[in-house]
Amino acid sequence: MINLKACARCGGDLIPEELLGDIDLVCLQCGHRTSAPAAPRTTYSILATAPPARTRQRSQQRRAA
Ligand SMILES: [Zn+2]
Repeated sequence: MINLKACARCGGDLIPEELLGDIDLVCLQCGHRTSAPAAPRTTYSILATAPPARTRQRSQQRRAA
């Protein structure tokens, strides 16, 4: 995915470039390098460690008649 005219220095086009496992955004026009804001694997790790959302409201909703 290319970020058109997203360079903070010159307003050029940014392309993702992987370097040592990290993804940086590099400007095609001036070479300005910025780190990518968010890595998708962070989201995966959160989803993997999230406990199952089980609630026991069903028994409480029964009317004690
Ligand atoms: Zn630039």
